[in-house]
Amino acid sequence: MSQCPYALLESPVPAAERDDDPLTETSLAERTLLDGKFIRVIEEDVRLPDGRPSKRFSLRHGGAAGMVALDAEGAVLLERQWRHPCRRAFWEIPAGKLDPNENELDCARRELIEECGVEASRWARLGMLNNAIGYSNERIVVYLAEDLRWGEQKLDEGEHLEVYRVKLEEALNMCADGRITDVKTIVGLFWLDRLLKKRASEKA
Ligand SMILES: [Mg+2]
Repeated sequence: MSQCPYALLESPVPAAERDDDPLTETSLAERTLLDGKFIRVIEEDVRLPDGRPSKRFSLRHGGAAGMVALDAEGAVLLERQWRHPCRRAFWEIPAGKLDPNENELDCARRELIEECGVEASRWARLGMLNNAIGYSNERIVVYLAEDLRWGEQKLDEGEHLEVYRVKLEEALNMCADGRITDVKTIVGLFWLDRLLKKRASEKA
């Protein structure tokens, strides 16, 4: 028999960040290895919590916004888009990188018009996710867009994607069975499902 050494935290569990965090790694110097169009590859010399030196490599990213666009029939907009790093197409919610000095909501409004030709009159922030914490500071803020008006796509040159509507229940099934693997899409649909259930329970 052995005893579990781990503390069981009671609800509500606090956020992970701490003041004067004993886990802090201190950055001593950094170099840019590659300055790309929207990512920078950084090499850093760090001091670990135990005082020993180490190196960290990361991708610095300017952030992005995405949105779950929900129509009056309970369907969400999903795009089919080629993602070259993985050499295949993916199902994903509309999203895009922030322009310089652009806030996330403005970015979400702009991307929904550009990629899908859709304007929404109701917006709500669903949450923020960090999609690659092991090697990047990229963050994506996901919104819910409702009261949709359909118009013309305004795709950037070189941008190719197909837009479809899928009922939320089927989109959630796609997340569960592996047809959807894109992280912002899985998380955004999960947040929307929670929100709609909360709305329904408040109505009841
Ligand atoms: Mg996009």
